[in-house]
Amino acid sequence: MNSTTQFFFTRRSLEAVRLVTSLAYSLFLPTYLATLLLSCVSSFATAKPTPPGQSSLKIAVDFDGGSAHIVAIDQHRRLVRIRPQILNQRGWRCWWFFKLSGIVPGESITLEVGDAPWATPDRATFSLDGKTWLQTDLGKRQGQRIVFQQSIPSKTAWFAWGPPFTQTDAEELVQWATEECSEAKKFVLCKSQRGRDVPALHFTPSGDNALPRVGIWINARQHAWEVGSSWVCKGLIEWFVSNDPRAIQVRQVADMTVVPIMDVDSVAIGAGGKNQLPHDHNRDWGTANLYQSVSAAMQHIQQLDDQRLLKIYIDLHNPGAHCQSPFFYVAPHHILSDIGQRNLNRFLATAASELSGPLKFRGECHESGPNYDRNWRRISKNWVTLNTREDVVAVTLETPWNTIHSNLDGYRLIGSQLGRAIARYLRAMQALTP
Ligand SMILES: [Zn+2]
Repeated sequence: MNSTTQFFFTRRSLEAVRLVTSLAYSLFLPTYLATLLLSCVSSFATAKPTPPGQSSLKIAVDFDGGSAHIVAIDQHRRLVRIRPQILNQRGWRCWWFFKLSGIVPGESITLEVGDAPWATPDRATFSLDGKTWLQTDLGKRQGQRIVFQQSIPSKTAWFAWGPPFTQTDAEELVQWATEECSEAKKFVLCKSQRGRDVPALHFTPSGDNALPRVGIWINARQHAWEVGSSWVCKGLIEWFVSNDPRAIQVRQVADMTVVPIMDVDSVAIGAGGKNQLPHDHNRDWGTANLYQSVSAAMQHIQQLDDQRLLKIYIDLHNPGAHCQSPFFYVAPHHILSDIGQRNLNRFLATAASELSGPLKFRGECHESGPNYDRNWRRISKNWVTLNTREDVVAVTLETPWNTIHSNLDGYRLIGSQLGRAIARYLRAMQALTP
């Protein structure tokens, strides 16, 4: 074969290849695109056709706090497989919350969730009306995944990692408390980074000034996925506005602020929030704040302290997946004065008396100092300890989320018990009427 023939052959071969390629492309491209499209809408795809007499299961997440990555829906097995949505730089991948429609009332739905321990509670949460949240039965673990089965008596249901608590819930809570209690008044702590209101509640002392006022600051949900902390906060507010004589006594002296959700932006998009980049709300307490809610809280707390009022700061969280009992993070002992340590010990003793179960505080405490995190000074309770008077008690309460009691009643009970602990502590400090 000479070089001309070789060239000719090569050219013809190339043309043939182009022809075949273009033919294949025109024939198969539509099929390829269709396949791609189908895989993109796999959320509504069926492993097998929907059986006769059944409607197609469909997932929606287009609402406040809604979030889920849909892996598959098997219409034949009535199985929904999801995992948490990946939201770049917005913190841990653990929260999920979706609406399921197309249910045949009475049928059993199988929900399969992966993949991190944070994303797979032993019991999922579901609701038939989007308001009342119930626990499913215990799920069955399969490696990093967990499978829940739940009989649903309605056409639509909501499923979530835990009982959702959104910005709207926070607004309704502070509105309700304002109507319920003359000392309580709702206000907007600030606008968030993305322009959302951060709802808060302020109590003005009702007493006749026979006793000095007592400054108290409580905030929840610096980590968006830790939804239980907002329900503990709700229980606390419900107790504070109640007719319990101890709550009435606290209201006589308390200049108190409660913030049910600090990170409203992450809550709104269903992000984990914890360890979001460059840092999360609970590593923002210091100079050059990223988050308006932290900045506003710091200013208010500083004012309370400047007026010599601040006595208690409590930050509400949920801990790791294996935790079964509430515990407190406390400031490292080397930054506490003798008075600070004495008051902290007194507060922990009163908490042990009141947080009596079923989620019982058994005295477990951990310091979050330099050995815990190099940015320990920017953790809220540490910042409060370092920047306010020595007699202030500043703690983080971690309420377990992965127990049979980690539901609406359990969380709210802990909240009311925390209110009673605050009352008992103030009494021990002779800050209440005898
Ligand atoms: Zn947390």
